[in-house]
Amino acid sequence: MKAAVATDFASPLEIRDVPVPDPGPGQVLVRIETCGLCHTDIHAARGEWPVKPKMPLIPGHEGVGVVERLGEGDLPVSVGDRVALPWLGHACGHCRYCVAGWETYCLTPQYMGYTMDGSYAEYAVAYASHVVAVPDGVSSTDASPLTCAGVTTYKALKVAKPQPNETTLVVGIGGLGHLGLQYARIFGATTIAMDVHDDKLQLAQELGADHVVDGRGDSPAELAALGGVDIALVTVPSPSVMRAAHAALNPNGRLVLVGLPADNSLELPVFETVLMGKSVIGSLVGTRNDLADCFALHANGRTRVITSPRKLDDVNECFEEVLSGQVPARLVFEMGSAQG
Ligand SMILES: [Zn+2]
Ligand SMILES: [Zn+2]
Repeated sequence: MKAAVATDFASPLEIRDVPVPDPGPGQVLVRIETCGLCHTDIHAARGEWPVKPKMPLIPGHEGVGVVERLGEGDLPVSVGDRVALPWLGHACGHCRYCVAGWETYCLTPQYMGYTMDGSYAEYAVAYASHVVAVPDGVSSTDASPLTCAGVTTYKALKVAKPQPNETTLVVGIGGLGHLGLQYARIFGATTIAMDVHDDKLQLAQELGADHVVDGRGDSPAELAALGGVDIALVTVPSPSVMRAAHAALNPNGRLVLVGLPADNSLELPVFETVLMGKSVIGSLVGTRNDLADCFALHANGRTRVITSPRKLDDVNECFEEVLSGQVPARLVFEMGSAQG
């Protein structure tokens, strides 16, 4: 099968012909139809995080495809099912976090495209217990970004508990933010979208943002004039942007972080945090149930997914495109068109 393989942290990915993997006990073999490109894939391939991925590595944690073969065991999926292969490749199911419904913080997790091979390939092996069914009303192309970008922002807002009389600021209207903005509206808050690109500001308007703020202008004054913000969802992996969002918070405000900057540190003022009761919340992807919610909302016509198709052969160019910050939307590899 064709796969994009990271061989070491310093080299570009290689498009290789590798053997189709065998599903072990509890696993399934999935014929991948689409896989989105998440910024995390670039960090993984380049070994930019403190905990390093397996090497060689096939990245990709927004894979969607059809189950083609079953490993041993009594599995909760069947051949022919269309499923998503999210970041959380496996969780133990019995540690205190799994039992409490926080499987994303399992003590012994496996991550797709990080500790396990992911979906930048024509086939991928996944644990049957941790794939998520994709409903008929959701195309594979749309399901891919929902599988990480969607569920990550949905869950981040869920833990920040937006109230109908509150204002949610979404910073960065890219792959994550364009979905986060739509979920913020679904949760009932007044929404402010902020970006530094005209096309993203335009997109935010089209997606129904109540207010749009250009980050290149005097955004602190603009946010203050709008009454400040109660929740700030920052999808941009930049400590200075996170600090600015924290400064814009009203009393009891919540700053939710989902992006992981290569520079792993964020300096915040203690005085304002204490006197105004501000919270800083970290949130990692979402559970299987959260992803099922995202798929159901999309099937019901509540969200719009903006994607741009790409071929797997162009994976290195796509990485550069994402790093330039100029991508029109979530890039999605279509494996069918990558064959040959
Ligand atoms: Zn991701
Ligand atoms: Zn666990």
